[in-house]
Amino acid sequence: MTNTSLETDVLVAGSGGTGLAAAYAAAEKGLKVTVIEKLDQIGGNTRISSGFFAINSKEQQAAGMHMSTQEAIDRLTNYNHYLGNGALISHIVNSAADTLEWLEDMGMEIKLNPTANTTQYAHRGDDYKGGSYHMYQHKDQGYKNIQKTLENAGVTFKFNTTLQDLKSAEGKITGATAVDAEGNTFDINAKATVIATGGYGGDKEAVAKKMRTPNLRTLGVPSMGEGFKAMIKNGATDLDSTALIHAAQLAKSTVTQTTSDSHLAGFSHSALTQLLLTPMLWVNLSGKRFANEETVYDTVEWANAAWSASGKYFFVVDQATLDTFTAEKNPLEVSQAGPGADTEPGDFTELANAAVEGQTAFKGNTLDELAENAGMDADTLNATVAKYNDAVAAKNDPEFSKSAQSLAFSVENGPYYAFISQVAYLGTVGGVRVDENLDVLDANFKPIPGLFTGGANAGGYYEGHSYPAYEGLASGFSWTSGRIAGTSAANYVTQYAVAH
Ligand SMILES: Cc1cc2nc3c(=O)[nH]c(=O)nc-3n(C[C@H](O)[C@H](O)[C@H](O)COP(=O)(O)OP(=O)(O)OC[C@H]3O[C@@H](n4cnc5c(N)ncnc54)[C@H](O)[C@@H]3O)c2cc1C
Repeated sequence: MTNTSLETDVLVAGSGGTGLAAAYAAAEKGLKVTVIEKLDQIGGNTRISSGFFAINSKEQQAAGMHMSTQEAIDRLTNYNHYLGNGALISHIVNSAADTLEWLEDMGMEIKLNPTANTTQYAHRGDDYKGGSYHMYQHKDQGYKNIQKTLENAGVTFKFNTTLQDLKSAEGKITGATAVDAEGNTFDINAKATVIATGGYGGDKEAVAKKMRTPNLRTLGVPSMGEGFKAMIKNGATDLDSTALIHAAQLAKSTVTQTTSDSHLAGFSHSALTQLLLTPMLWVNLSGKRFANEETVYDTVEWANAAWSASGKYFFVVDQATLDTFTAEKNPLEVSQAGPGADTEPGDFTELANAAVEGQTAFKGNTLDELAENAGMDADTLNATVAKYNDAVAAKNDPEFSKSAQSLAFSVENGPYYAFISQVAYLGTVGGVRVDENLDVLDANFKPIPGLFTGGANAGGYYEGHSYPAYEGLASGFSWTSGRIAGTSAANYVTQYAVAH
C-alpha cells in the first residue's frame, strides 16, 4: 500500500451530474481538474435518473410552449413557503435551459417529454409540472461521450477512489484525502474543492434517523455521505438534507436499479402493481385511513402521504375487487407514477394468495381476521371500512375528498386482503447551506474559502422536507448547480492565483 501526494487546481469528488458538470466548467477555464470517483464508472444516481427539469428550453419553444422562468421560480418558492434560498432557486431556474444545451454539446442526447405524455396523471395539462421533463436518450452512449469530452478537455479521472476527509489550513480548504480499492491513500492538494458525492442515501441508518422512520426502501448508488460529513466537520450547516421519497413499492419488490422504457427503476413486474397504483382504500398500520388515495397519480404527493403514515401502509381490497381486475373490468385509470404499473392481465386471486404466502400481504375471511393477521386494530379497521363503504355508496368522501369517480370499489365481500406498500427513496437531496454560486457557507453565512458543492449535497433548493412535484428537478439541479459550482471554483482559483 502506498501513500501518494497529488497536486491539482480543482479537485472534484464524485462524478454524477454535479461532479461532471463542475469538472467540465472548471476545465473550460483552462484549469487542471482531477475527479475522484468511488465507483468504477461515471454517472452516479444521475445516470439512473430519467430527465432534466428546464424552463423555456429551445424544444419547449419549438413545441409552442411559452414558459416563464419567473413563474417557475414563483411556483417553487410558493411550494416551500418561502423557506428555500430564493437567490439560488432563481439562479438555477434561469441557468437550466442553457445548461441543458451545454450538456447536449457534451454528448448527451435529450428529448422533451410532451406534457400529454406524462406518466403522472395529476400533472396533465400543467406544462410546469408535466412538460418540463427533458429525457436523456441512449444514456450509456451519452456518458461515454461525456467522459471523452471531459478527458479531451484535460480532466483526469481516478476511479475506485473514495474521498475520506477534507484538508484545511488557515481557514481555507486545501484539498482532501482519499483511499482506493486496494487501500492506497492519496493526499490531494487542491486550490479549490467541489464536493459532488451525492448525499448519503446509501447510509440507511442515517436516512431512517433523518426521516424518523425505518420503513423506507432505498434505491440508488451506495453514497455513504463521506463528502457531506466532511463539509459539516469543516464548518458547513446541514440545512435541509432529506430522503428523496418517491412513490411506493409492493413489499419485497425486486429492485433492479435498471431503468426501462416503462418502469422507472424496475420496482416490480407483478400485475398486482395495478392495485398498488389504483386509488383503493389505504389504511395505516393501525387500520385507519390517512389520505385521499388519488395522490397515487402524483409520485411525490403519494410518497409524502404514505410517509405521513410511517412510510408503510396497506391497501385493502375485497374478493369482488380482485374479480373485477381478473375480468379486466377495472373502471379506474391505473397510475403510471413512480415505478409505473405492469398492465398485463392476470388472475388476481391467485396473485393475491401468492402474496399472502410470500408474507407481502395478509388475508382474512372477515375484517376481524384480516386485522388480526395484519396486526391492525380490529375496531379501527371495521370503523374505517364502514365509513369508506358509506362514502363509496354516496359517491361523497367527507373525510378526504376523494372524487366520486375514484370511489369505485367498496370493501364488503370477503375474503379481504391487505397488501403491504412501502415508500421508496431515490437517494437524499437537500444538504448544506450554500449561496447562489454554490459556495459552501459557514455558521455565520460566510463562504468557507475553497469549498463548493452542488446536487444532492446542496441545501436551499427544495427546503422543507419535501421534493416538489416537478419532474426532473433533482437531476436538472445536479447538472446546473454543478456547472455553477465548477465556475465558482475556477473563479476562486483564478483570484487565488492573482492574490499569490
Ligand atoms: C433510481 C433513481 C431514479 C431517479 N430519477 C430521477 C429523475 O428522473 N429525475 C430527477 O430529477 N431525479 C431523479 N433521481 C434523483 C437524481 O438522480 C439525484 O438527486 C441527482 O442525480 C444527484 O446528483 P449528484 O451529482 O448530486 O449525485 P450522483 O449522481 O449520485 O453522483 C454522486 C457520485 O459520487 C460518488 N461518490 C459517493 N461518495 C463518494 C466518495 N466518498 N468519494 C468519491 N466519490 C463518491 C458516487 O459513486 C456517485 O458517482 C433519481 C435517483 C434514483 C436513484
